[in-house]
Amino acid sequence: MSEVRLRFPPSPTGYLHIGGARTAIYNWLYARKHGGKLILRIEDTDVERSTQGSIDGIIEGLEWLGIDWDEGPYFQTEFAGEHVAAANRLIAEGHAYKCFCTKEELDAKREAALAAKQEVKYDGACRNLTPEQVAEKEAAGIPAVVRFKVPDRQGKVGYNDKVLGRIEQAYSEISDFVIVRSNGKPLYLLCNVVDDIRDRISHIIRGQDHKDNTNRQILLYEALGAPIPVFAHMPLTMDIKGAKISKRSHGEIVAVQFYKKNGFLPWALVNFLVLLGWNPGDDREIFSKEELIEAFTLERINKSSSIFNHKKDDPKFFTDPKAININAHYLRAMPVAELAVFVKKELVEAGIWDDAYEHEKKEWFCKVLELSRERFHTLKDFATLGRAYFADDFAMDEQALNKNVLKHPELKELLPILADRFAALDPFDQQSAEQAARDFAEENGLKVGIPVNASRALITGQVKGPSMFELFELMGQEVVVSRLKNVTKYF
Ligand code: GLU
Repeated sequence: MSEVRLRFPPSPTGYLHIGGARTAIYNWLYARKHGGKLILRIEDTDVERSTQGSIDGIIEGLEWLGIDWDEGPYFQTEFAGEHVAAANRLIAEGHAYKCFCTKEELDAKREAALAAKQEVKYDGACRNLTPEQVAEKEAAGIPAVVRFKVPDRQGKVGYNDKVLGRIEQAYSEISDFVIVRSNGKPLYLLCNVVDDIRDRISHIIRGQDHKDNTNRQILLYEALGAPIPVFAHMPLTMDIKGAKISKRSHGEIVAVQFYKKNGFLPWALVNFLVLLGWNPGDDREIFSKEELIEAFTLERINKSSSIFNHKKDDPKFFTDPKAININAHYLRAMPVAELAVFVKKELVEAGIWDDAYEHEKKEWFCKVLELSRERFHTLKDFATLGRAYFADDFAMDEQALNKNVLKHPELKELLPILADRFAALDPFDQQSAEQAARDFAEENGLKVGIPVNASRALITGQVKGPSMFELFELMGQEVVVSRLKNVTKYF
């Protein structure tokens, strides 16, 4: 197999899980690194559980993350005929057989095996039925599943997993597994292999939860006479207590959509997810797309499960703190012009966007982003913690209301006077505002920090933030004067 072809084959039965997204990302990185192709294949064979909403969500999630694919989406249901044909071919060539055992019979054998402390395994009752016996049972209308006939061989089937090393299983340990249900519907193990053969998949990167399927699938590849792809099974993502992360126990934070809704930059999430289960072999944590494609190798996928470190009880971190820190890193490091596009969406959503930010106030807008982002962690912060930059109706930070910031006894009388001084300045800029504030503090026997910190709270609603002198100029004379006069509201 010379062409490098990978696939992401989600079952569309729910939202795009961050674990699923990580699988997509690893496949994508490998395809991009090796000039290969990524195929998106929707495994919608479980018609009862597959939904259009889920398909749309998966596609939207991948698009948002910037994970692009080269072929598809293909839909597994469109190839149902091929799956049935493959099962028939396996029967015709002696690699599979019809099994008429009823559920009751199988249950009874199972119970007996358990009671005798024997391995529970299909006993092969229908393995050697003659064509006449099969015809007879069919004529009697007894429903049948199709089972794969595991070769009756000594030794082991196995493969060299790129992450886990050699994985083997004795043929004798593998039960003749069902590949077609009694309703005629082929099962995952078969459909997935038939599709991977048709799509000429060369590398399969998927979760370790599929590790045990792989040996059985290799038997299918062999029986169908197809080359066996390279397999790499990646670690599952667990919470700090070692439990699999799921929506039921962890809530929305396991869905990609959650990060979109909560102010993540798509690339920051990709960067974070890649590190959940892969390491570059050095201490780098921040990667551009090009750097990541360059650095990514299957061999550096971790063997042991990765920990999604969600400190549920700490309200400061609504998800893994590392994810938030990586997001904050990108917010601060990315070109302001790019950030502006993301922030615009937030402000539009919050109803505080002004078209002037793209025209006559563009420079001002970029300056606000540049100064304010230093303390922000998500895009949401621009519309919440940063609301005062864009609107007059912002909330006052609780901490600001304490006596060291706003409720300093003199401030109620003094700040309106400072406001008048500011009103009289011409020009009103960083230097003149700073001078006025310093003179004012000195005349009144205050440390300059006292009026300045109070001003910060009144003007931005926050106790911390960029240099206030810069902010005076940035917010402008009119806003500064009117917000300082508001001090009386807080007494
Ligand atoms: N549809 C399967 C899943 O979502 C695909 C598994 C595979 O990669 O083979 O788990």
